[in-house]
Amino acid sequence: MTTDGNSGIDSTGADRVSLSDSLTRAADTAASRREQEIRTELANNPQALQALDRLTANLNCYALTDEQQMQALDDFMAAPNAATAAHVEGRIAQDLGVDPAAAHSLVSPDAGTLTIDGRTYTIDNGALLDADGQRAGTIANNGVVQLDGEEQARNVYTDLGARVQLREAINGELTTLLDLHPADRRGRLDDANVNQDFADRVKDTLVRARQEGMAMQMDLVYRTFAHQDQLYAQGRTAPGARVTNARGGQSWHNYGLGADVVFSTANGQPSWPENGNWTRYGEIAESQGLTWGGRWRSPDRPHVEYHPGFGAGDAGGFVNTHNRDGLEGVWDRMGIGQQP
Ligand SMILES: [Zn+2]
Repeated sequence: MTTDGNSGIDSTGADRVSLSDSLTRAADTAASRREQEIRTELANNPQALQALDRLTANLNCYALTDEQQMQALDDFMAAPNAATAAHVEGRIAQDLGVDPAAAHSLVSPDAGTLTIDGRTYTIDNGALLDADGQRAGTIANNGVVQLDGEEQARNVYTDLGARVQLREAINGELTTLLDLHPADRRGRLDDANVNQDFADRVKDTLVRARQEGMAMQMDLVYRTFAHQDQLYAQGRTAPGARVTNARGGQSWHNYGLGADVVFSTANGQPSWPENGNWTRYGEIAESQGLTWGGRWRSPDRPHVEYHPGFGAGDAGGFVNTHNRDGLEGVWDRMGIGQQP
């Protein structure tokens, strides 16, 4: 099933105008104000803005109340990406009774794959098919997964181990709306040497990045003093280019309070794209209380760290505590110990 036809939800025919430009041009409505807020918040995520453009252009096909527009915008903002935009559009068409088949098609992905808990399913019009082609559950374009026999629904955004590719036939062409890879394949955030409070904030950052359609994954997290000294020697007393100005104990990585997050390629490999949404990633990390290295004089865009009440350069002051009382001693002294 495609979105072809005269249903009013054709995805490419509509002019790319926003709600505030059209339905509510003259009026200062709650929805137009909300849309403006969202545009400001997503200013550094071009893909999310593009999805919003598509959604608001298509919403023009319907005469929606201010309240319905608000609901659509809120639903979109839960996970602002192209798949959610299709889902919201389909739900509105369903609610209004517009072309039920086309509306259903937008609510559920037409094709794609899902790997969750090590099992891979093929997607066929919202149904999850196992390796034998047997129906095993459903998936919707809002990222909700319901496996047969499971009481609790799952979510491709909050399940950091999920690999998901959602595809939708738009005007006869299969388009990928969402493409996420596992975010912490090696379980680096679950390392006992990583502070739990910090790890939770990084995980929340990854979840929000996934919701915004940004495929990211963990690179280095915890690094021992010895490993840090080894890196420091590189380009100084050892061959190679200089990679760090921090000796053992001078980096928050050495205390389980620093992490590097990078983007995933189409194949799921780590990458450092020049034109990636680094600024948006940094904003999300900062909203979780993390310090982002992208703002430093020599920017370190993948890097985030956590040291409430201390500065980025204060790590070296914890060497003695570390050598005497270990990581737990450092965290306790900082007031972010593992036990509340
Ligand atoms: Zn780092």
